[in-house]
Parts: sequence; C-alpha cells; structure tokens
Amino acid sequence: MPSSLERKCVEHGLKMTEQRRVIAQVLSASDDHPDVELLCQRANQIDKQISVATVYRTVRLFEEAGIIDRHDFGDGRARYEENSEDHHDHLIDLKSGEVIEFSNPKIEQLQEEIAKELGFRLVGHRLELYGVKLDA
Ligand SMILES: [Zn+2]
Repeated sequence: MPSSLERKCVEHGLKMTEQRRVIAQVLSASDDHPDVELLCQRANQIDKQISVATVYRTVRLFEEAGIIDRHDFGDGRARYEENSEDHHDHLIDLKSGEVIEFSNPKIEQLQEEIAKELGFRLVGHRLELYGVKLDA
C-alpha cells in the first residue's frame, strides 16, 4: 500500500523513482523529526544504495512541493516531518534534544488576534519553545 506521502507526491505530479518512493515511505512512517542522516539510515534498511545526497535532494524536492515541513530546532540541523492535517507546535528540550509536540487553542487564537490587529489575515505560523525540565 502506498504511504500517505507517496500519494501526495503523485498528486503533486512528482516523478517517483524507487528511491524516492522509499524515502517517502520512511518519512511517512517516522513519527519524530529526523534529519537527513537519520532518514538515510532508515532508508538504508530498505535500500542500501540510497545515499545521503539522494535523501538531501529528495527532501528538498518534497519541501518545495509543500508536502513536508522543514524545522530548525536550534542545533543547526534541518529536520523533517510530513505535513499533518492537525497543526502542532514544538517544545524542544535543550538538554536531551527531545522534541515534544503540542497544540494550544489559546495560542492559536492569540496569534490570529495579533495578525488582525496588524491588519493581516493569518495564513500560517511557526512556533518553537526551548526549555529545560523543571525537575532536572
Ligand atoms: Zn512535529
């Protein structure tokens, strides 16, 4: 069965090679925020021929098509995740690097209000919180 990302690739008219298909599959199956190296390791479990350069080019392509999101969580490494229908924001644990997903209706509403006050209709936003655990 094609992964959801594979379906989106087809919908966006991307030419799908076997390697792209594997990378799309791996991204769809990831529920974290892998960088290119980690994606490549996972892809290599299916196809050893896939190189970091290929993964890099492929995620760029997917990103340009708007079907995956690129994140920068402050460590200088780009991380990727499939676009999801339900919007979420991220909290990054600065000690462990763990990324926690959350959503908060108050924040969403507040952002819309701010945009409106400034004369805009909000079409998107990006929010990253950085923290250390209180009990650590
Ligand atoms: Zn996320």
